[in-house]
Amino acid sequence: MQANGQSEVAIIGYGTAGVNAAIGLRTAGYEGVIRVFSDTDIPPYSPILTSYYASGEKTYEECFPWSAEELAELRLEVEAGAPVTELDPEAHLITTAKGTFPYAKCVIATGSTPACWGFPGVEGDEAFEPIVLRSMENAERLKAVLEDSTCKRMLVSGASMVALKTVEACLNKGVKVTLVGMNPHVLDFNALPPIAERFEKGLREKGVELKLGQVIKSVKRTDEGLEVTFSTGDVDVFDQISVSHGMKSNLDFVKPGSLEIDRALVVDEFMRTSDPDVYAAGDVAQGTELVSGQKAIVGIWKNAALQGACAGRAIAAELAGGEPAPECALKGSIATNTIAVNGTLFISAGTMAVTPERRTDLRETDDMSVLCIYEAMPDGGERLVGFNLCCDHDESGSVAYDLGAMLTLRIEAACKKA
Ligand SMILES: Cc1cc2nc3c(=O)[nH]c(=O)nc-3n(C[C@H](O)[C@H](O)[C@H](O)COP(=O)(O)OP(=O)(O)OC[C@H]3O[C@@H](n4cnc5c(N)ncnc54)[C@H](O)[C@@H]3O)c2cc1C
Repeated sequence: MQANGQSEVAIIGYGTAGVNAAIGLRTAGYEGVIRVFSDTDIPPYSPILTSYYASGEKTYEECFPWSAEELAELRLEVEAGAPVTELDPEAHLITTAKGTFPYAKCVIATGSTPACWGFPGVEGDEAFEPIVLRSMENAERLKAVLEDSTCKRMLVSGASMVALKTVEACLNKGVKVTLVGMNPHVLDFNALPPIAERFEKGLREKGVELKLGQVIKSVKRTDEGLEVTFSTGDVDVFDQISVSHGMKSNLDFVKPGSLEIDRALVVDEFMRTSDPDVYAAGDVAQGTELVSGQKAIVGIWKNAALQGACAGRAIAAELAGGEPAPECALKGSIATNTIAVNGTLFISAGTMAVTPERRTDLRETDDMSVLCIYEAMPDGGERLVGFNLCCDHDESGSVAYDLGAMLTLRIEAACKKA
């Protein structure tokens, strides 16, 4: 079996979910070949740290969570610099420029790519590509721009966590930054207005110009730089533009119609897709979101790690001739977010959707605002389904962090009980 490759496990994507799938396989006793397909030549890195590398807060080496020794222990056959161009689940074949590889079980862990939906392009500079942030390559470019003394004014389009991390990198490098966001508030789907407003106050105090409820209408290359016309009619000039308009799951290589894809690959509690021999984990998977009970992408590091490990353990059990143990199932996860921009801290978890069955409770002190969302339960009680908080200072071990951790645990506990 091993000789023709049919008992090999393939992992497509060498990031958090991919590495944890390998860890899951090995810790569950799988001794066969694990072939990992990576589209880069560098070891697995953390996208979380890319903005800190760009701003000089982290070194290049610090962006790689696993040491060479830890990776060597996993005994992986890494096909580096080999982006997968086709996955044919029916034929059990993976194609790259290096050739075609058979597999018995496969984990798709290819993450996502920044999308520039809605960016109008640049008149007079058709080759212009806005700065985006995900890969180490993206971070290298942002770092070079921030260290280029001719870049004095940056426009960041988008108001998500990634956009705000780019804003922070600009502030840390002394680059004047303007943020333009289509919604009335920053933090898009992660904060409710009272919390977002406190965060916006913090940003303004740090010198960030906010242009909310508007978008970039057009951009023109002029002798002064990039002349941007906003949807309000305002015109301003910038040296660079960064775009964070969301992420798109990397699934172009999946043979059309071969797997159930909604916004990403729909998976069960063992990360199995609609094909029994193909699993998915991380930003490319749509598992159960615990508050809603719906299938959703929960695009955070911890979820990618848990899903990857779950897929690895389940595959090991199946290849050993059994079934994955029920206690190894991943019931689901909740979204959590933490970001601090130059001292203003934001933490959230769970849902931000305020439906008729839900009520909000806002508490404000001199230095912190906390908004909790409670849902009425059929027994007359209620459960915590989401919270978001903003604190005017960011100190590890502070009340804000403790409160954030405690409320997150409460949401998770309430989900398990419901
Ligand atoms: C700037 C930024 C900040 C973030 N901050 C946080 C944070 O503070 N907290 C948090 O929890 N999460 C954060 N996240 C999200 C977190 O990084 C992701 O949820 C997590 O990395 C997902 O892991 P993954 O393995 O699914 O994807 P990735 O880590 O992206 O790994 C996927 C790998 O697959 C590769 N690949 C893609 N296509 C192919 C192909 N065809 N063939 C072979 N390889 C391929 C990719 O290049 C990549 O190396 C942040 C993300 C970004 C971009």
